[in-house]
Amino acid sequence: MTQKILVLPGDGIGPEITAQASRILAACQARGLDVEIEEGLLGGGAYDAHGEPLPAETLEKARAARGILLGAVGGPKWDTIEDLAKRPEKGLLGLRKELGLFGNLRPAITYPQLAEASSLKRELVAGLDIMIVRELTGGIYFGQPRGIEERDGQRVGFNTYVYSESEIERIGRVAFELAQKRGRKLCSVDKANVLEATILWREVMERLAPEYPDVELSHMYVDNAAMQLVREPKQFDVVVTGNMFGDILSDAAAMLTGSIGMLPSASLNESGQGMYEPCHGSAPDIAGQNVANPLATILSVAMMLRYSLDAPALAAQIEEAVGKVLDEGLRTADIASEGTRTVSTSEMGDAVLAAFEAL
Ligand code: NAD
Repeated sequence: MTQKILVLPGDGIGPEITAQASRILAACQARGLDVEIEEGLLGGGAYDAHGEPLPAETLEKARAARGILLGAVGGPKWDTIEDLAKRPEKGLLGLRKELGLFGNLRPAITYPQLAEASSLKRELVAGLDIMIVRELTGGIYFGQPRGIEERDGQRVGFNTYVYSESEIERIGRVAFELAQKRGRKLCSVDKANVLEATILWREVMERLAPEYPDVELSHMYVDNAAMQLVREPKQFDVVVTGNMFGDILSDAAAMLTGSIGMLPSASLNESGQGMYEPCHGSAPDIAGQNVANPLATILSVAMMLRYSLDAPALAAQIEEAVGKVLDEGLRTADIASEGTRTVSTSEMGDAVLAAFEAL
């Protein structure tokens, strides 16, 4: 059956990087991937055209799509919109909410060719391949009650850290299933020595474990996990955690790799429908100059093939093509170093496409 893909280029460098990723998608179609590709507006550009960062037409197309490829949204042009609900990032948050994208997958991969870009020693990060699974729609960021109010003559701020068993179970299953497809190790991160919500989190992970006997489950307190991530990051395979801990740990893990322009991400819902996007933003400082790194977006296409379109062989070929291009010494400016050849966004796209087609 033909599946639909929606490409949302967005703002800033978004159109430049998604253009390169779309060329790879087209090459996958030529290799038999049965998809129909559409484009839509999201973010600042959508606001300019329709007065809304998430127009109804885009939402409708997104609902019908199996996979959504997003560039990035936002930029200074829209920072002064007074109505916060109309700001570009609200378009992105709205899409996540409307589609129920509760499972955020953030790989942190250090290509051996780029290990020098990390702030850690080469031997600690070369070949690093971690997958952080973050719960995205619950926890303290959404829990009620929340607010700032006057109590006993002073202001008090409060939030609620809440997870239901079913919320924990569904993110747990995503993580166990991923671990089965990878190194079969799952580390669940919590703060069960202090927070009741995470005592329940740990209990649910333990309850699920017998259903995945091939996966080795361990638990770690979040403070120790932060320490271990910088001490010996290669000990991890898949890490699963709640919204807030995942927010922090996934950014720390991203920095281990040293190059934000290389990192893809996925956000999935219960039916496996997903939104795929680079971890970086719209980089307005370099927009329109054909210098941005398109690799995170190209690698997001590989994630889409693997997790929403059931085409792992094509996904692996894209990843191999990216590795080959790095081996050849080609780099966009953000990852350039001595002895490498600096290329533009479109030249990098040309090179990955050529390497893919040669496989
Ligand atoms: P950013 O990630 O856009 O940029 C940070 C720095 O990294 C900049 O110097 C930029 O030039 C560089 N950079 C980022 N991606 C790059 C790439 N692919 N190639 C080369 N260099 C790259 O973060 P920011 O500057 O904090 O935010 C800029 C805008 O992006 C803001 O409007 C912000 O709201 C938005 N944003 C959007 C998303 C998203 O759409 N998911 C995420 C984060 C930020």
